[in-house]
Amino acid sequence: MLRINDILDKAQAYLPAEELEMIQKAYIYSATVHQGQVRLSGEPYLTHPMEVAGMLVDMKMDSATIISGLLHDTIEDTLTTREQIEQEFGKDVAFLVGGLTKLSRISFGSQEERQAENFRKMILAMSADIRILLVRLADRIHNMRTLQYQKPDRREYIARETMDVYAPLANRLGINWMKMELEDLAFQYISPEAYQELDTRVAKSQESRNRYTEEVKGIIFRELEKVSIRGEVEGRAKHLYGIYKKMHEQRINFDEVYDVIAFRIILESDIDKTCYEALSIVHALWKPVPGRFKDYIAMPKANNYQSLHTAVIGPYGERVEIQIRTRSMHEWAEKGIAAHWRYKEGRAFQDHEDNQIKKLREALEIQQEIKNPKEFMSNLKLALFPEEVYVFTPHGDVKSFPKGATPVDFAYSIHTDVGHQCTGAKVNRSIVPLRYQLQNGDQVEIITQAGHHPSKDWLKFVVTSRAISKIRNWVNAEEKNSSLTLGKDLLEKEFRRNNLKFSTYLKSDEIRKVLSEYSLQTLDDLISQVGYGRISAKQVVNHFLAAEAPKEPEAPPDKAKKKSAAPSLGISLTGIDDVMVKFAKCCNPIPGDEIAGYISRGRGIVVHTQKCPHLQRLDAERIVDVNWDVREKHAYPVHIKVVCTDRKGVITEVSSAISSFDVNISSARVETTDMIANLMFVIDVYDTQQLNAIFSAIRQLKIVHSIERISKG
Ligand code: MN
Repeated sequence: MLRINDILDKAQAYLPAEELEMIQKAYIYSATVHQGQVRLSGEPYLTHPMEVAGMLVDMKMDSATIISGLLHDTIEDTLTTREQIEQEFGKDVAFLVGGLTKLSRISFGSQEERQAENFRKMILAMSADIRILLVRLADRIHNMRTLQYQKPDRREYIARETMDVYAPLANRLGINWMKMELEDLAFQYISPEAYQELDTRVAKSQESRNRYTEEVKGIIFRELEKVSIRGEVEGRAKHLYGIYKKMHEQRINFDEVYDVIAFRIILESDIDKTCYEALSIVHALWKPVPGRFKDYIAMPKANNYQSLHTAVIGPYGERVEIQIRTRSMHEWAEKGIAAHWRYKEGRAFQDHEDNQIKKLREALEIQQEIKNPKEFMSNLKLALFPEEVYVFTPHGDVKSFPKGATPVDFAYSIHTDVGHQCTGAKVNRSIVPLRYQLQNGDQVEIITQAGHHPSKDWLKFVVTSRAISKIRNWVNAEEKNSSLTLGKDLLEKEFRRNNLKFSTYLKSDEIRKVLSEYSLQTLDDLISQVGYGRISAKQVVNHFLAAEAPKEPEAPPDKAKKKSAAPSLGISLTGIDDVMVKFAKCCNPIPGDEIAGYISRGRGIVVHTQKCPHLQRLDAERIVDVNWDVREKHAYPVHIKVVCTDRKGVITEVSSAISSFDVNISSARVETTDMIANLMFVIDVYDTQQLNAIFSAIRQLKIVHSIERISKG
């Protein structure tokens, strides 16, 4: 069993004494809380966190990571809480262990392969800090090394998950040894027979392979020496899963897999050019196999792997695969991102290292800039897919959504009808509000009810374009319907008030004249225009009154007049032309506010802010969608209240801050109560943007406690 002193011995080579103490403290803590627990192997539970920490110290991780390795199962498997960990070991460690706990609660199991990529992304997204992922991978390696103690059905389940999810993640981070070990361990349980057979064959051929390897190594080494290129030549059997995959993909037998041995030239020099020189030596020695040369130095792989690959016809006419790279490329190829997790206090990253990290981060879609190595080491956040969240369907499929998506977005992603009929949602088996924002790893279930309809309010919180357009279509159709009903209602009433009957005029010549007057096609158009409040019922009736009795009709508003009506307010409202518009006095909307229109009887549309309490009390049937469409700037009155310390000259101080924006103050009022002054202003502003700028300027004033927009002074 690994001992704490083994870990500390390795750690003291690169960590300061006080951090070693913290590691020791974490060891004691872990031993205490896991006391009495045993692994399926019969060993004390503590062996597991110790092995995980051992791998992390071998990778020369920072102390917070090693401590998190020791504590990674404490929240999940003991009574320990995150708060306790924070108290004992600080925020950083608590953050890592908390993240590991969340990760341990999701499992992919034996989902279909097509889901694997989404699942990998989910894990990346949940590993808010790359160190969480590294501990998770070490955890998985130890669990795989001891998988034989699991029940057979669990073995295959865990092995599949390892093969489909964790090995590719290790690969993505460029940590080759982890990827190979995870693959071989998983392979052993997924295809035990193939694994055994391959294992036996590789073992059997070992002696002759060794002889052959030494021979080829010697030839290459001597040729390099002749031109004074210094380096090391390695030759070793590929990992079993790698051989197996090759046999499968290329449909060849074991005997045909010539490159069971991979040769590798690792050059002392750190100059790329030397690699190409070594390559030309190899190609002069043996004939290259056409089409097998790959230049991953000029074109690194996505995980930033760099190397030259070639295949040649070797001394016995066999195919030999050779990789050529510098020492630092090799370091990266083996350890990936972990290679750079070093305490390099006092020394800046060398340019090429910096570049490598940059490229890796790009590959991982990390957006932030690295400013210094310390920041990189202690603070590297894997903001991998900052704009996406990954959630489970009830069947365990993973779906991705833009950040901020809600259960309604989820419902529409399944089917339009599921969206329309969605009445509620459960997340992780508890009911949530429809505007709940989905979190990574949530399991989402939609509750539907036949005949249920979408609500216009949903448009305020859905984020996917699919949900938005589906809801909008429904709402538009619905509004058209209700405007027809409303218009018909208004017309019938207005006709009745004038002792006429609307229905008798439906097919009359007069009505056709009215239609052409307003350039409308059908009667329905006219009715819905009335319903939308664009034409008043009175205007329509007047046509018929004029026909009945030659009385001076209220002139139908002619184009010129109508056009001048709206612009007098300095705005027009999209979707509604030529209609009388007024601003509600209760809430005084200004451009930038979310607004709604209310069709008043005969007074056109009154615009309220959507938050206005008055609007809530009005007849919902008559509320229509309106939007700002500011073509020329106008100033609008806004009531504001500033709370500040009562002192001489406060009103001057605040008003001059306002006036510095060249804004008119149309009224100012002060109320004082012990030491506090409430200043009420009415100011004329262009829009919310300007208002916000004024607000932040006022907030800067030392005397100001708070500032708010109020509905009326
Ligand atoms: Mn564990």
